[in-house]
Amino acid sequence: MAHKCELCNEVIKTTFLDKLDGTVIKTGKGETSKKHYICSSCQKEHKDNLMEKLK
Ligand SMILES: [Zn+2]
Repeated sequence: MAHKCELCNEVIKTTFLDKLDGTVIKTGKGETSKKHYICSSCQKEHKDNLMEKLK
């Protein structure tokens, strides 16, 4: 299943091992926690501000 980057809306590619070419960031705890899919270029671009961008 393809995931879209939440920041740029591009489909995140997967490697031959089905690993995402990007990262998954979890925010929140327990039932309110959410997974955010981020592509590798946005990950590089925003680095330290990623958590801020996801609010
Ligand atoms: Zn992106």
